[in-house]
Amino acid sequence: MHNRDAVFLEDLCPKLRDRCWRQSIHNFTNKKCIYCGNKSESIDHIIPCSKGGLSITENCVPACLSCNGTKTDNEVFSWYRQQIFYDPRRAMAIRAWLDGDLRLAIRLLQWAEPKNIKMEKALHKSQKINFDFKTAA
Ligand SMILES: [Zn+2]
Repeated sequence: MHNRDAVFLEDLCPKLRDRCWRQSIHNFTNKKCIYCGNKSESIDHIIPCSKGGLSITENCVPACLSCNGTKTDNEVFSWYRQQIFYDPRRAMAIRAWLDGDLRLAIRLLQWAEPKNIKMEKALHKSQKINFDFKTAA
């Protein structure tokens, strides 16, 4: 009984820790893809595992499925430069993230996306109201 409990805890804890860690990575960017700014739905290894990239915060960024899927094993900066949503400020943020300077990375991302989220939501709401008004009229 005791032994089985120990195995169970060993099984459970790394998973829980992993989930919290992934969540914290998404929270750093407010659940947005570091590359394009869309909703982050996955964790991308900046340096792919296949090229020796580690599963540590410095090498793991929030990414949408589209970016994660197209980047695959490409070198991050050469891939990123070819994207239509390329933003040099985001490229700097990725570099800072890779260097372990998350504070700088987050500041650069905020600079790349200065729009206030609340204002953006309010704007969408008002546009919707206008739209509803037009269809009603
Ligand atoms: Zn993306």
